[in-house]
Amino acid sequence: MSRAFNFSAGPATLPEAVLRQAQAEMLDWHGVGASIVELSHRGPEFMQVAAEAEADLRALMSIPDDYAVLFLQGGATTAQALLPLNFAAPGQAVDYVVTGHWGKTALKQVKHCVAANVAANGEPGGYRDIPARDTWQLSSDAAYVHYTANETIHGVEFRDIPDVGDVPLVGDFSSSIVSEPLDVSKFGVIYAGAQKNLGPVGVSVVIVRRDLLERAGQPRAEILDYRAHLKGESMLNTPPTWNWYLAGLVFKWMLAEGGVTEFAARNARKSALLYGVIDQSGGFYRNEVAAAVRSRMNVPFFLHDEALDKPFLAQAQEAGLISLKGHRALGGMRASIYNAMPEEGVQALATFMRDFQQRHG
Ligand SMILES: *Cc1c(COP(=O)(O)O)cnc(C)c1O
Repeated sequence: MSRAFNFSAGPATLPEAVLRQAQAEMLDWHGVGASIVELSHRGPEFMQVAAEAEADLRALMSIPDDYAVLFLQGGATTAQALLPLNFAAPGQAVDYVVTGHWGKTALKQVKHCVAANVAANGEPGGYRDIPARDTWQLSSDAAYVHYTANETIHGVEFRDIPDVGDVPLVGDFSSSIVSEPLDVSKFGVIYAGAQKNLGPVGVSVVIVRRDLLERAGQPRAEILDYRAHLKGESMLNTPPTWNWYLAGLVFKWMLAEGGVTEFAARNARKSALLYGVIDQSGGFYRNEVAAAVRSRMNVPFFLHDEALDKPFLAQAQEAGLISLKGHRALGGMRASIYNAMPEEGVQALATFMRDFQQRHG
């Protein structure tokens, strides 16, 4: 059996050690005679898995006690839709900073029910840069300011936490959570679908400052209410136990590897290597994002001649480098290099790219 280096944007590659552990535990979890996915979510076995996952994520991210951690279903998109229901009064303004496809999606989820103000928009510039902070038009009375920390498709990443004063800051960290140390106390809400950097698709993480849960929000069903989810320990209905368990294994793996500081160093080296190959290719490869906001997680790039796209992808696949095709919105290529992508994978891609250029340049 040979595993390729998989550059998929999401669902994305998982640590091989985690997959092997899940495989070993698949039929008989810790001697109970059943798989963890065959047991009640309210039984002692899964309750232990859930508690450890939360404790490990808290340790990884140094999440302060005045923040709640929820493990929910519905992905990042559902989390986007639930923001105004939980945190904005009817008619209250909410501010959105749109720096790519996912920021636009976040806005789309809330437009129908709140007064959504686009405080800044990178679309006119093709999302190749982040509008300067002093150009943002924030509302005076916004319930929150939403931004996308890393734009997975456009490859644009905030390198600093934006200062929005006392208004709660909501960050979509779906593709960059746990990729480097983060000061959680600067946020009102941090949310992320798991399938990029945390584990398998099907579970999402919402980290929320507890005082915000006391906000009235808007009339909503219990299943859409974060307060109820907290009270019900993220188990108002049957949770995605398999996904939650796998995410928990990823957290343990990350802690054993050295935590977010170690991954930040690896991620800096991996992305610098790829951008270096692109920038030193004399225009054979091209990345159009402003250097200061280039993503460390998703590296979109184009070949100078589109006719080379197909041979590039085919030869990459032969070399054991898969899922490099860019998002259909942008075309070209994209290498997603989350925590679980080993440095050897990025080194192999860099070597392949240089060789491909030699053959076709
Ligand atoms: C993938 C992604 C989403 C959408 O996630 P789903 O879990 O599919 O809803 C939202 N935001 C960002 C930044 C993403 O990368």
